[in-house]
Amino acid sequence: MTPRTRLAPSPTGEPHIGNMYVALFNWAFARQTGGQFLIRIEDTDRSRFVEGAEAMILEALQWLGLDYDEGPDRGGPVGPYRQSQRLEIYREHADRLLAAGHAYRCFCTAERLKELRQRPPQAGQAAGYDRLCRALDPAESARRAAAGEPHTVRLAVPLEGETRFADGLRGEITIANAMVDDQVLIKSDGFPTYHMAVVVDDRLMGVTHVIRAEEWITSTPKHVLLYQALGWELPQFYHVSLIRNPDRSKLSKRKNPTNVLWYRREGFLPEAVVNYLGMLGHSMPDQREIFTLAEFREAFSWQRVNTTGPVFDMDKFEWLNGEWIRRMPVEDLAARLRSEGFMPAGLPDAYVPGAVKLMQPRLKRLKEFADGVAFFVSRLPYEPALLIPDKKGKPLHTAAETCDALARMRAALAALPGWTAAALEPGMRSLAADLGWKHAELYTTLRVAITCRRISTPLFETMEILGREECLARVDGAIEKAQALA
Ligand code: GLU
Repeated sequence: MTPRTRLAPSPTGEPHIGNMYVALFNWAFARQTGGQFLIRIEDTDRSRFVEGAEAMILEALQWLGLDYDEGPDRGGPVGPYRQSQRLEIYREHADRLLAAGHAYRCFCTAERLKELRQRPPQAGQAAGYDRLCRALDPAESARRAAAGEPHTVRLAVPLEGETRFADGLRGEITIANAMVDDQVLIKSDGFPTYHMAVVVDDRLMGVTHVIRAEEWITSTPKHVLLYQALGWELPQFYHVSLIRNPDRSKLSKRKNPTNVLWYRREGFLPEAVVNYLGMLGHSMPDQREIFTLAEFREAFSWQRVNTTGPVFDMDKFEWLNGEWIRRMPVEDLAARLRSEGFMPAGLPDAYVPGAVKLMQPRLKRLKEFADGVAFFVSRLPYEPALLIPDKKGKPLHTAAETCDALARMRAALAALPGWTAAALEPGMRSLAADLGWKHAELYTTLRVAITCRRISTPLFETMEILGREECLARVDGAIEKAQALA
């Protein structure tokens, strides 16, 4: 029997990076073992349903390269893959449980349940429902239901004994049944609860390995009881540690952005995202930090999964993204900037390869590209005073001297035999010596003239890319500005 794993996201908002982390484990295990990975949308909580959330989750998975075999948009043999389209199935199973005495109808009002919740729990007893309706005569219960009285269906948890299951990461877990509440399986609106739907679907969809976040571990005994009540064999459970904020609380958007599509919009590469998530959750046999999704799939092993709640570190994530940016061939990086919408529309094609090459070592996020190359796109406005080199804000030369220096630069640039960075550098250096300027001072003036900024990509390489004509025009513009100062 080949493994079948699943991601069961609730469409309640933006696709959370923690969900993608769980998806990565499910994907890697299924792909490594020749199994299948499926997506099931858990949309039974209508109060939390967000229109468009499902599409964003699927987009995020696709962007990361976590392909799936079955799902709401691709169908499959055990669909539908949205729980809201499976209500009849849950009701049938609830009826089966009712008939077998494993479940009962509860007619308690919301007010009564609220009051129960406020009562202090008794020692050795599950907090929650006091099982009042469990004592109802089944015939009476059926009659009230038939008369249309609102009710839920609850699991009749055994009053004695204990429930055990083995977690693939955490070993055997045992809980006394007395501590388990008679949980609701079907709500009064006819929708199943998460507990009911997850068990029925995992079983009917042939899920063999339930791999999910550790926050669900306390629900698992309830699920195990349900499997048993339905006469079903248990799947293998794995509860992976949650990613945490530096203060060890669950990763939340108050501390770090958690929407995986936000990372896309900032210019994180999907290669870096899956690498970072893989690095957080798992260590490679050779301790390598940088690896591809395919390498992760090959190396993935439950033995090397981190069970201690990895801490999310934005600096590390950015560093890794920068590493991935630097590993790409320049043409691929240019294509990626284009396909992800980070290539400024006005950047002339002739500048693209050079500009990408110069920016590549400097980028942590693709989003930074546009700002870094803005002066390639157009001559940007700047303060004329920037042309005058200074030390801690004190000008080192007058406006007239700067004007003269710029005119000499223009002449030298116009006369330079070759237009390469290698030729430009010594040409400008010797001019600085002739003028009695430190070369760094002259480069400052020239840098502002060319790039309109004090900080930019390397000056002479930049000039080579812009070409002689454009550079001379920019120096002319600078001379005019300096004249106005003098
Ligand atoms: N719908 C749950 C979630 O959003 C699924 C939990 C599970 O995998 O069982 O995380």
